Amino acid sequence: MNVADSEVVVSILKETGFKQTDDINDAGLILINTCSIRENAEQRIWSKLKSIRHLKKKKKDLVVGLIGCMAERLKEKILETENLVDMVVGPDAYRELPLLVAEAESGHKAVNVLLSREETYADISPVRMDKNGVSSFVSVMRGCNNMCAYCVVPYVRGAERSRDPQSIMREVGELFESGYREVTLLGQNVDSFKWTYDGETTCFHDLLEKVAHVSPLLRVRFSTSHPKDISDELLKTIARYDNICKHIHLPAQSGSTRILKLMNREYSLEWYMDRVKAIRKILPECAISTDLIAGFCTETDEDHKLTLSLMEWAGFDFAYMFKYSERPGTKAARKLKDDVPENIKTIRLNEIISLQNKLSAKSKKLDVGKVFEVLIEDRSRRTGDNLSGRTSQNKVVVFPEEGHRKGEYVNVLIDKCTSATLIGKII
Ligand code: SAM
Ligand code: SF4
Repeated sequence: MNVADSEVVVSILKETGFKQTDDINDAGLILINTCSIRENAEQRIWSKLKSIRHLKKKKKDLVVGLIGCMAERLKEKILETENLVDMVVGPDAYRELPLLVAEAESGHKAVNVLLSREETYADISPVRMDKNGVSSFVSVMRGCNNMCAYCVVPYVRGAERSRDPQSIMREVGELFESGYREVTLLGQNVDSFKWTYDGETTCFHDLLEKVAHVSPLLRVRFSTSHPKDISDELLKTIARYDNICKHIHLPAQSGSTRILKLMNREYSLEWYMDRVKAIRKILPECAISTDLIAGFCTETDEDHKLTLSLMEWAGFDFAYMFKYSERPGTKAARKLKDDVPENIKTIRLNEIISLQNKLSAKSKKLDVGKVFEVLIEDRSRRTGDNLSGRTSQNKVVVFPEEGHRKGEYVNVLIDKCTSATLIGKII
């Protein structure tokens, strides 16, 4: 989502005459797009600021701005604690950037952290910053209305709002025309996408279907689904289109209903399992990935074991795994005690990671001997003469070039795998 936002920022600035540079030493303006989701994400930004301090000493008129979630969370406080920063701009104020840069250039500290109920940057064509020119992100909503107890997103990105489907279709169409072959539709909870115009309502499954119609050669992915909202109707839409990828990211967070309740996730373990069963039934070829948090407030060994057994049962193909990190201002920070000791969080996270490594390896081994349609994305980073791409299930495949190029689809027979990659040959 931050990549997509940075692309919007670059577009707004280019419109007013700014140019991008690959060399930080050349820059007259440095913007750092920030994340607040866990404390270590913010720590990385403080280190980044330290690492550019020497540039400010060398160039007195250099303007440094912090943008995004951390700007929203800390507001003017950043200016008090870090004199290197000249500008603080929240995620809904990017249209003001040219004015704010001018203000900072005139020697004043510039701040705009107003959140909006409407801003979706729908009319802005993002300047793509990816290197491969094959796959791209498209933001379809902003903000979030779910108040998960641990999560800072609703506070730093504001209320949920959907983007006008017409502008989404225009952006996707332009991407396809300029050679892109995969789009990932982004939102914090895509299942609650809703747009009503002239008495006609577009839900997420309608949007997905419209995007799938752009071309059978365009792959469509999306992230993130919320287990409380993912519907059979959406699963059936995915089943109807070969170009809607058979991969669902369905963050479980925990396998304990008690912890899920404290997290305010609005589903139980049984509900989550029912959704996985529905995916397996309607989309038998579908990969499922998840997010898991280790050591949330009051989590016991029993709760943790329930998470491990959910993982075994679901056989997740992939997972993002985190230690609980208390975020100031969230419901958990206000109402619950962050009482799982750090060393226990570490032990539990390591157990989760090591189980997931086994499950990921198992999921890849099951693919050996099968043929997958692969969209070629680039040269393999490890072995330069091989190509790399992904299956519909979002698994990385590496294979010899044989005259093919990125952006093409090829059928690849998988003959072996490593822990992270499928290896095969084009047939
Ligand atoms: N909206 C998505 C959802 O609800 O699944 C994900 C949003 S969040 C950007 C990505 C992941 O970060 C979450 O699914 C959660 O696992 C993790 N996360 C969020 N807040 C956290 C916290 N305070 N500590 C640790 N992990 C956190
Ligand atoms: Fe955060 Fe929950 Fe919203 Fe996801 S759904 S962004 S975890 S509040």
